[in-house]
Order: sequence, then structure tokens, then C-alpha cells
Amino acid sequence: MTKTHDSIKAVQEAIHNKDPHQTEFLQAVDEFLSTVEPFLEKNPEYEENHLLSILTEPERILQFRVPWQDDKGNWCVNRGYRIQFNSALGPYKGGLRFHPSVNLSILKFLAFEQIFKNSLTGLPIGGGKGGSDFDPKGKSDAEIMRFCQSFMTELSKYIGPSLDIPAGDIGVGAREIGYLYGMYKRLKQYDAGVLTGKPLDFWGSKGRTEATGYGAVYFVKHLLADKNENLTGKTVAVSGSGNVAIYAIEKLQELGAKVVTCSDSNGYIYDEEGIDLALLKQVKEVDRDRLTAYAQKRPQAEYHKDDTVWDLKATYDLAFPCATQNEIDKEKAQIMVENGTKVVAEGANMPCSLDAAEYFIDKGVAYCPGKAANAGGVAVSALEMSQNSQRLQWEKEDVDSQLNTIMKNIYESTRDAAREYGAENNFMLGANIAGFDKVAKAMTEQGLV
Ligand code: NDP
Repeated sequence: MTKTHDSIKAVQEAIHNKDPHQTEFLQAVDEFLSTVEPFLEKNPEYEENHLLSILTEPERILQFRVPWQDDKGNWCVNRGYRIQFNSALGPYKGGLRFHPSVNLSILKFLAFEQIFKNSLTGLPIGGGKGGSDFDPKGKSDAEIMRFCQSFMTELSKYIGPSLDIPAGDIGVGAREIGYLYGMYKRLKQYDAGVLTGKPLDFWGSKGRTEATGYGAVYFVKHLLADKNENLTGKTVAVSGSGNVAIYAIEKLQELGAKVVTCSDSNGYIYDEEGIDLALLKQVKEVDRDRLTAYAQKRPQAEYHKDDTVWDLKATYDLAFPCATQNEIDKEKAQIMVENGTKVVAEGANMPCSLDAAEYFIDKGVAYCPGKAANAGGVAVSALEMSQNSQRLQWEKEDVDSQLNTIMKNIYESTRDAAREYGAENNFMLGANIAGFDKVAKAMTEQGLV
């Protein structure tokens, strides 16, 4: 064991001892630490300066109460959070998640990953994340609006277009961003650049809704092109049926692939002839309904209640987990490898456990970690910030072409870092090191603040 190995272990142990119950955060840190040894050996000054200990501590954590009234006039209360994790490369940037499972551990893991993801985009943005344990499911529009207004009443004190720029995530789409922005404007001033993922009518970016899903597909397109392959004729399994899943499916179909699955938290659809995207959009985006409604309207599709896509035994070439963290453990990874998948591209954040990811890498599956593969969303959010500063709205084709270029760069820097550190095709290591490199330099140049 090298000295560097021992010092990483010591840092890891200290983090585990400090917050032993933050399992998702510890998982994200463990995954990161499992890959950075060769980089730290090459750059011993970071170890001497205790950079890892500083990097894994958020710059600031904000927690606040969010009181709101339901339609019957009852008072309810939820917890609101914002983690401002690292501003070495720019203002804090990262989404807001509204889901009953939200807690400090989940948001710290998301904000930590966001630091390296944002670094990989090559754009000037630091890492942050926030949200609430509020459950938007089953709430009326008016309830969602009152919750968002109360949430922003507190959050507005801590954000700003050059300080911290939230966006959407699970449970937060254009509707919620609209209500949040309306309240910010009443409390502060008109400044569209304080939130991204806005509706197009008030300075959202064309192509932002599609960006995460499209970006994940572009990442895989460039990976396949490297092997003289393309997406035409490939069979694909996708999980989720939200923003990321829908637009991954759209781009996959456009590039000639057949997508046979999608899911929500109650079950999954297996549609051997290929997902009917128009029907899926109607059910999820227009009717805000469950996938059972898709199955009812498409008799040839199978609906599997209480199971996940990754329990399915069927042949497919590529897998895009696009729902949530820890969808895939090692057991499910084994099924996926038996199913023949050659690529696992994470549309979601940390959908694979660490042992599942290591299993894929070990079996020669191209495992594309979320911090690289799903960076398209935040990249177009940064382009939205640029448009807001210019007081301009770019054409969709311009945004999409920049997204494609950014995803190509992310793929290449991930691939090249893996190569440089002797781990060809290990995109987990490549993404961590390529992302970390810039953050470590900037933190050091700024005096480790
Ligand atoms: P949405 O809220 O639009 O959709 C989430 C989807 O995942 C829904 O189908 C939802 O099903 C399912 N899901 C959520 N939680 C669970 C759970 N605990 N178990 C099973 N299924 C679940 O969110 P997004 O599509 O925006 O986000 C999906 C993933 O992508 C998240 O990991 C997010 O962090 C990540 N991501 C999103 C980006 C973006 O731009 N939106 C950017 C980068 C990453 P149900 O409706 O039943 O809850």
C-alpha cells in the first residue's frame, strides 16, 4: 500500500465517522475516492495541503422551514434546503428536488457530484443542490404554487444570478420554476438569470427541457463513433418516465434505436415494438398520469407492477437508467450483463451502486457515470445564463449544436483521462479525475477557500 493510498483511507474514515448516517453522501464520496489515487500520486501537493478533506466539506448548508396551506386551508410544513458545496469554478449551480425522500444526505451527494459534473462541462459554474421533502404528487396547481412561493420566500435570501442559480430536478419542472421565479421577482427584482429551466416566455433557453436526455444520448453517440458504431438498429432499455427519460427516448428514436422500456415508481412498461413516445408524452406531460394509463391505451405493451426495468430478462444492447439513485445494485447489474448490454449510460444521478458500477467495468461494459453522461442539462442551463446576461434567446439549433459539442468534449476528456492514468475504458475514473483536476487547481490558486 502506498502512502497516498493510506492518506485517502484516513480521509475516508474521517468522513464516515463525521456523518455516519449520510449513506448516499458517503456512497458518492467512496466512489470518488476509489478512483483518485493515481492522480494524487502525480500531484503530491494536493495531499500535503489536505485538499480532499477541504473538498468534501460543503462551503455552506442552508436549512429552513417551509410553511404552506393546502386547498382545505390546513397548514402544512416541509423542510427546505440549499447546499452550496463548492464555488471554485463559479457561482453555485445545481437543481432543486421536491420528493418525500429528500434529506441532507441525498442533497449532499447530489451537490458533491455536481461539482465535478459542472467542471466537466468546461463552463464557469460551481456545485450546489437543494430541494425539499415536499411531495408534489396529487397536489393541485394552487397547492404547488403556494408551496413554491413559501419556499422561495426563504431561499431568495441566499441566491442570486452571480451567487447561486438553482434549476429543476425530480419533481421540479418548468411549472415549478415559473412559480419560484414569480416569487423571487416580487421579493427582489426582475433578474431572469437567477433560475434556469424557465419557461420560454420569460427567458428560458430553447432546448433546455430536452438537454439532459439528449446530452446522455450524444455522449453515447460519441462513444460508439469511437468504435465505428452508431445507434441505428440498437435495442435500448430506459428507466424512468420523467424529463430525462422522455427526451433520452426521443433522441434515441430519432437516431434509429428502438427503446423497449420505461418506468415510474409503481412499475415498468415492456413494449417490444418500441415505446409510443407521443402516447408517453400525453400521459406524463399533459395528463400528469401514471404509466398504467399508457398500458391501458396500448394493449400490446406489458405492464409489470412493483418491478423495475432492471428485473427484466430480455435482450438489449444499451441501458439508460434515468429515474433515481440506486436503481441498480450488483444483482441487477448481473441480469443486465446477461441480457447483453454493452453500455450503461446514467441519465439519472448515481443510479448504480458502487459495486454495480465496478461489476460493469470488470465485465467490459462501457459504464458512463452520471457526472459525465447527464451533464447536458446543467450545460444548457449555463447557456441559459449566458443568454439571460445578453438579453437574447438563441435558436434551438444553436443550443443543440453547442450541447452536442460539449458532450463530445466531455466524452473525450473522460476517455483521455482514463487513458492517461492507465485505466483505458474506465469512464468512472476518467470522469472523476478530469473533473477533479480543474477544481483542485482552482481551489489551490484561490488559497484553498
Ligand atoms: P422527473 O421528476 O421528471 O422524473 C423522475 C422519474 O423517475 C419519474 O418517472 C419517477 O417516477 C421516477 N422516480 C423518481 N423517484 C423514484 C424512486 N424513488 N423509485 C423509482 N422511480 C422513481 O425527474 P428528472 O427526469 O428530471 O430526473 C431523473 C433523474 O435525472 C434524477 O436522478 C435527476 O437527479 C437526474 N438529472 C436530472 C436533470 C434534469 O435536467 N432534470 C439533470 C441531470 C440529472 P414517479 O413519477 O413514480 O415518481
